[in-house]
Amino acid sequence: MALGFLKSVRDQAAQARTPAAAAAPQLPAARPERVSVLSEVEQLGVGMFWATDAQGRLSFLSQRALQDLETDGGDLIGKPLVDVFSDIDSEPGAPTQRSLSFKLKAHSKLDEHVIALTDARGSMRWWRLNGRPLTNAKGEFMGYRGSAVDISGQYAYETRVARQSQIDELTGLANRRKLGDKLNAMLGAFRISKRSCAMLMIDLDRFKQVNDTMGHPAGDELLKQVAKRLTSLVKDRGEVGRLGGDEFQVLLPDMDDRGTLGELANRIVQSISQPYTINGRRAIIGTSVGIAIAPYDGVDTDELTRAADMALYSAKETRGGTFCFFTSELRDAASKSAMLGDRLRDAVDRDELSLVYQPLVDPETNVVRCFEALLRWHDPQEGFISPALFIPVAENDDLIIRIGEMALRRACADALTWPETIRVAVNVSAKQFIRPGFHKTVAAALEASGLPPGRLELEITESVFVGDLESVDAIFRDLKKLGVRLALDDFGTGYSSLGYLKGGHFDKLKIDQSFVRGCTENGDINPAIISAIVALAKALGMETVAEGVEAMDELALVRERGADLVQGYIYSRPLKQEDLLPRFADGTMKVTAEGPARHRAERISMFRKVGLIHEDHYYDVILRNLSKTGARINGLAGVPIGTEVVLDLGHGQLVVSKVVNATEASQGLKFETALVSDGSGGFMTRHRISPYSLAEAGIPLAALGAGAFPLARWREAHKSVPRFVQLDLSI
Ligand code: C2E
Ligand code: CA
Ligand code: CA
Repeated sequence: MALGFLKSVRDQAAQARTPAAAAAPQLPAARPERVSVLSEVEQLGVGMFWATDAQGRLSFLSQRALQDLETDGGDLIGKPLVDVFSDIDSEPGAPTQRSLSFKLKAHSKLDEHVIALTDARGSMRWWRLNGRPLTNAKGEFMGYRGSAVDISGQYAYETRVARQSQIDELTGLANRRKLGDKLNAMLGAFRISKRSCAMLMIDLDRFKQVNDTMGHPAGDELLKQVAKRLTSLVKDRGEVGRLGGDEFQVLLPDMDDRGTLGELANRIVQSISQPYTINGRRAIIGTSVGIAIAPYDGVDTDELTRAADMALYSAKETRGGTFCFFTSELRDAASKSAMLGDRLRDAVDRDELSLVYQPLVDPETNVVRCFEALLRWHDPQEGFISPALFIPVAENDDLIIRIGEMALRRACADALTWPETIRVAVNVSAKQFIRPGFHKTVAAALEASGLPPGRLELEITESVFVGDLESVDAIFRDLKKLGVRLALDDFGTGYSSLGYLKGGHFDKLKIDQSFVRGCTENGDINPAIISAIVALAKALGMETVAEGVEAMDELALVRERGADLVQGYIYSRPLKQEDLLPRFADGTMKVTAEGPARHRAERISMFRKVGLIHEDHYYDVILRNLSKTGARINGLAGVPIGTEVVLDLGHGQLVVSKVVNATEASQGLKFETALVSDGSGGFMTRHRISPYSLAEAGIPLAALGAGAFPLARWREAHKSVPRFVQLDLSI
């Protein structure tokens, strides 16, 4: 029943939304009938209109709403919007949504955002807002224009029903309330019995797009199918629930094995990303997963939920279609990325982004066939900032559209100065690609530069194949008509569905670096994967590129396996246009392979202070590098080979290790149990020392937060005699 209400409110909001775009404080005087319809809408209370200035202050509100809300002498106009409208997130049964201030700051669209406010008589009201940011011709943010519908009647009813019920009506899963109650009860009881509990926060990527293009009933059907897939993966190991919208949650009691959790999260990402059939139409969505574990990351419901949310946010930031474990470093990452966004906007305004070009080389002849354009940002204060960091930030709002267009135009212009036999490849973000009119942007860049379309290649990733696939197909057709070439980038990562290769959209397939790097190590299955990808591509008439080739043995392998082109440091790092031009001798360019003979096992080099426990003594050491099976440390002298030690990597990660080689001030350690991957390129221990055991040792119970080395405090309590010499680490 509550659903029926939801629908009627949605429909009302949709009706109100249409005129909202045109509704502005200054309506065109020539359309009097429109004005009267709008004012009727306002008078009936069906819809209201509002606007803010660039500082987020209310600059307009429908007359009737002002009458209802303003107390004597109270002037709402000019007040910050967030002071007038408040968030309803904490109310049980309320829809989940990012906070209003978050959305306003990010200049995001407001889409059926529910807020609460108090009217002049002191009663609570609920409104559903729609709104969009406005920019002027120069792309500067001017404020918001939007509409609102008063949904107080239905809202109070809906939340009451939701509060009484434990089941999400659409999917039949546990609802937010049931999950919350369960978690509260579990964490309380588990604290006494010292048990652990993992929380997976799951958010669908691009669900909204399906909802918008295929309609709400299709969206509902999709959510049901997602619920089925989740339940069949989790089985009876835990409880699957829907928090609302496209957010799901899984609670797994007695689970703290990060290896197993990573595998489960990975399977969830893979399974949700497989295509769906809805009323005979195909759709694909992605998903991101954030993981937090009690008592390590949080000891109560609030703390654990916040930790899982932050991990989810970080997974979405990285690239979507991935999972992320909570770490205490994530806590300030969210605010950092907001700051990065502001600085990036300035950098774009000041034209501080530039392009460099990395060659794609024929490994048989060493002739350069193409250059990939890669963005570079040199911030005056921070120095070089990687595109891997700032592109996701730009993708959070429409900045990516400006940056992408700039890259496209500049790359085409630069390529025109190269020999005709050399193409240019430009990276295109999914958000840019699926935006209506993208092919016109491409056509304009070609025309402005005069570059023949056949010399331009667009690199896109599998993430464009989400949402309504029919409209994605149409974009491909438009681009093909222009005559540009299309390359599928990072193949093998992400959504990994082969279906769309058959569509014949691509001229080129780029094998992701993760298959290439380290492919020569014994027992690696990557050479087999590379062969399979090359064979598949050949069968479908596509060219292949092996990316990220760094060592001679890798080059030999990918060449032998039939890759048509090679891109990697072995041939060249990306180059500036001015360094490139002099190298085109007689209309071509050749580069020779240069690099280490062999690939070295993946190690993460770092200089990080960690702890080391030997007998009863706690030392400080510097971690020089870390692999799954061992590490190298500095900072102790006189440690004999064969010594058993425990490495404290922080956050309760203790690793039993043995010294396997040693020089005077540096030791190589081999781990008793291998580390597991953390989902974002690093390593971590499968299990952690529980805050419960620390509490038993007299350290107060708390999540393993910022005090990353609680064990170091033992040193104070245990004034034992050191066996080894602690070197000064400050130099
Ligand atoms: P990508 O498209 O996969 O680009 C290849 C990345 O691998 C580049 O990193 C390149 O410098 C690096 N690379 C190439 N050879 C090697 C190698 O042998 N070893 C190693 N370790 N790395 C190698 P870069 O320039 O940092 O770019 C990172 C990512 O940022 C790109 O990945 C791409 O996804 C994105 N990006 C860069 N420029 C643009 C752009 O103009 N538009 C969009 N949408 N994304 C861009
Ligand atoms: Ca690329
Ligand atoms: Ca790539």
